[in-house]
Amino acid sequence: MYVAKNNNAAVVGRFAPSPTGPLHFGSLVAALGSYLFAKQAGGRWLLRVEDLDPPRVVPGSADLILRQLEECGFEWDGPVVYQSRRFERYHQIIVELKQRQLLFECSCSRRELVASAPHLGEEGPVYPGTCREGPVGKRAERALRLRVPDEQIECHDGVFGLLSQNLQRELGDFVLLRADGYFAYQLAVVVDDIDSGVTQVVRGADLISSTIRQVYLYRCLGQPPPSYFHLPLALGADREKISKRHGDSAILTSGNSRRALWLALRFLGQQPPEQLAAYQAAEILAWAEENFVAEAISSGERPAPDLDSC
Ligand SMILES: [Zn+2]
Repeated sequence: MYVAKNNNAAVVGRFAPSPTGPLHFGSLVAALGSYLFAKQAGGRWLLRVEDLDPPRVVPGSADLILRQLEECGFEWDGPVVYQSRRFERYHQIIVELKQRQLLFECSCSRRELVASAPHLGEEGPVYPGTCREGPVGKRAERALRLRVPDEQIECHDGVFGLLSQNLQRELGDFVLLRADGYFAYQLAVVVDDIDSGVTQVVRGADLISSTIRQVYLYRCLGQPPPSYFHLPLALGADREKISKRHGDSAILTSGNSRRALWLALRFLGQQPPEQLAAYQAAEILAWAEENFVAEAISSGERPAPDLDSC
């Protein structure tokens, strides 16, 4: 992995949290990693709130996350983008893909999907193309699926190396517009990143399985994919990815943000001096920008530190 250290205004990175709760150690790692990759390349760093799925949004948490990022010394470029304000744009892309006959209506219920799947993929039943020639069932609610080719699609990840997937065999045609009327995450992410000129996607390894789908969407939309860097996952004591479920010990507070930043640097394989943890957040970030070694990031998941003891 090599990231050129020059003043390249063309590099654009981003952090895209979901407002489902406060920033925790895992999301801080993603924020810090994406920030350092972008800044080291002399690029811009954007912020996007992924409030695509209204029932999952926790009121107030988007503002809380922005405040927490500020407390950690982060400054983002340009206005914050909210997915909830971009539904018209997603709709426009759906119409375009539909006109090009890349999408088809699917009437399959969850039960029918399970029954028709030739085998289980990593993310559940593989869609066997049941409704490709027209919806088969009577169900009134229709999802829109993207036709995918029977072809191995590859992409290089700057941390994990080669990613490769045959979408048709391992996943099947996937949903871009859900039967409940909401847009799929895969669609929104790709359209947002294209519209914002994002050239570098740095995010947690929990999203690595989405990458080939997104690379294929770039192809459908006639755009080059960004470079990808997936960061190791921070695990809770139960070996699961940390989340709200793990309670307060993973949550950032104004009392622990500087120590958390220092720990996040360590988590990314960097070697900040011990005394740096006592400095202001902005100074810790400045040290990190100056000394960031992308090659030091390893792909292995590991336990998150307990922020309570900070
Ligand atoms: Zn179907």
